Amino acid sequence: MRYLNPPVDKKNATKFDTGNVFDTCVSMVKNPALKAELCGVRQQVEDAAADYDAKAETGSLHLRTPHDHVGTVTAEKLIKVYTLRMVPKRATGRPIYDRIMSAPAHRRCPLCGLGTVNTLDHFLPKTHFPIFSVTPNNLVPACTWCQGKKLEYYSTTAGGQLLHPYFDDVDNEVWLVAEVVVGAPVVFRYSACPPDHWAPSTKARVATHLEKLNLPLLFSLNAGSRLTEIRARLEKPLQKEGGADAVREHLIEELSSMEEDHKNSWSAAMYRAAAASDWFCNGGFLGV
Ligand SMILES: [Zn+2]
Repeated sequence: MRYLNPPVDKKNATKFDTGNVFDTCVSMVKNPALKAELCGVRQQVEDAAADYDAKAETGSLHLRTPHDHVGTVTAEKLIKVYTLRMVPKRATGRPIYDRIMSAPAHRRCPLCGLGTVNTLDHFLPKTHFPIFSVTPNNLVPACTWCQGKKLEYYSTTAGGQLLHPYFDDVDNEVWLVAEVVVGAPVVFRYSACPPDHWAPSTKARVATHLEKLNLPLLFSLNAGSRLTEIRARLEKPLQKEGGADAVREHLIEELSSMEEDHKNSWSAAMYRAAAASDWFCNGGFLGV
């Protein structure tokens, strides 16, 4: 998981104002009755967005209650503000959609730190929380893998929540670990191992995040693929330089560069595990 700065309005370089985003999206609604109905709940949408931020900042979004309407406006009508007024290429809200989509560097999915962003995911799903259909801080760029695993998931407990890229920065300390499973082919097994001093809910959330998005499998597959790519490069220090110590040194050198970027990436966890494994460094990586 990678922290991502909340979406910024390019025009004035400030955070998006949910009321303005809502106005932009409903501005081209032609049906006067529908438009009046939607404008009638604008304040509620704006107030809810402020409450969203306050709760997200304290890890309390699980306290929001699901609902199927806002005032007289049904969930279906609010969801259409997103699907008809923000997503289509020519929609008035589309520039906002594009701005949020393109926020992560290299379009790297902030939920897994691995896939390529190709959609926006509603952190609190719009089917259960239609009031947040176009709330920018509820719209998270995501890859196909992550969105496909998350779907309409949300939690009613603190520890059951996924990590929110705009509000939860958990990269100060190592919590993602991999383990080398001895065998051929070599397998890297991923899990969450947060520091003891973390709050119980944060510990639970990093584990939930991995589990709900099935990231251990995704990371393990990538680690296997990476090993195939670097196997020949590791063989040289093993055979010609200093054996296991030289292999370990090479891994640690690569790791330090990865950790500079992100301590809890799948690759940093892989290299940490490989460097810590005598079996791996002694040639286990060759695959017997
Ligand atoms: Zn992803």
